[in-house]
Amino acid sequence: MMEKVILLRYGEIFLKGKNRIFFENTLENNIKNALISIKNANVTKISGRFVVSGFDEFDEDLVIAKLKKVAGIYSFSPAVVMDTDMEKIISNSIELLSEADGTFKVVTNRADKSFPLNSMEISRLVGGRVLSANRNLKVDIHNPQHILNIDVRERKKTYMFSKTIKGVGGMPVGCSGKGLLLLSGGIDSPVAGFMMAKRGTKLYALHFHSFPYTSELARLKVEELAAKIAEYNAGELNVFMCSMTKFQEQINRNCNPIYNITLLRRAMFTVAERLCKEKGFNMIISGENLGQVASQTIESMTVVSNVVKDVQIMRPLIAFDKQETIDIARNIDTYDISIRPYEDCCTIFVPDNPVTRPRLHKVLAEEKRLNFDQLIEEAYNNIEMVTIKAE
Ligand code: ATP
Ligand code: MG
Repeated sequence: MMEKVILLRYGEIFLKGKNRIFFENTLENNIKNALISIKNANVTKISGRFVVSGFDEFDEDLVIAKLKKVAGIYSFSPAVVMDTDMEKIISNSIELLSEADGTFKVVTNRADKSFPLNSMEISRLVGGRVLSANRNLKVDIHNPQHILNIDVRERKKTYMFSKTIKGVGGMPVGCSGKGLLLLSGGIDSPVAGFMMAKRGTKLYALHFHSFPYTSELARLKVEELAAKIAEYNAGELNVFMCSMTKFQEQINRNCNPIYNITLLRRAMFTVAERLCKEKGFNMIISGENLGQVASQTIESMTVVSNVVKDVQIMRPLIAFDKQETIDIARNIDTYDISIRPYEDCCTIFVPDNPVTRPRLHKVLAEEKRLNFDQLIEEAYNNIEMVTIKAE
């Protein structure tokens, strides 16, 4: 009897002591959350690996699709598991390769040192028996078409697999702090969130809108992006929605329009830092990219960052080419949503000639024309939170 399972591997080289336990527990929880909708799926730990078992064979593709989104998993393999018994190993190997033709080799890894045969002996014995059972196969140890991996593990269990699929890699979400992602409807910010989730940061999101200048459809777009990001964020993403309408109307009425975007961005970061402090988030994450647009020159970023005093600002895309970002957006399935043409609060009240090298003292003078603190207070107090679940 062979049971179908999936073997998961994680990068463990750099893990020691308490960190390792925290890393493994976080990863185990995240895997369980990712598979919560899969009937009867079980997650167990064997030394240095996780095993997913119990699921219906029809769900295997879905299980794999979900595991591909769990940060911290380095690679995984659909496998069969059996009791460690040479006759069983041989008969199952023959069965697994019964339809194959061309060249093959057997690679054995023996973690259970109490098993009497060593890995070379197991490979040779299994290889020989497979050859005599299937006349369409030949051994090629250098460049085989099929590789049968036999993993003889502790507790008298043996796993067999022939395929290794790459995972997201990185660290389990929850191992590297909490981050507040500034989420627009654009291409960059979802990718920025993904990059940090992959590094182990638990994400929360903050979206600014200017309803009714921005539409309900623009909000839906952000919620759809959030659902995609949630798949990488242990299954959900809490999104804080903040209205900048009043702020923007006031800027528009009182300030020199070339500073509109600079002032708006300073307001955004002010609200973001306050939310971080109140909720215990460790960082603000932004999709900015050096030199991409007027608001992303080094001078603009400096003047905007200047409002943030006590929280780190992470800009994981700072040195990316647009094409590199687009490639990742396609991979994480956000690109097609991002390019839908709805307005964003950054695209309304935009001057024809925004300042590209703002000077801090001039920006501060413009800001004085506003009732900055009170506008921030009002925007902050009207924040709504929605919890977006992964599909
Ligand atoms: P994106 O594609 O992510 O919108 P962008 O290249 O269009 O980025 P900007 O519009 O200048 O650049 O925004 C830079 C960053 O500021 C975004 O990546 C995002 O992190 C944040 N941001 C912009 N607009 C909003 C918004 N409406 N709500 C929340 N964050 C925003
Ligand atoms: Mg944008």
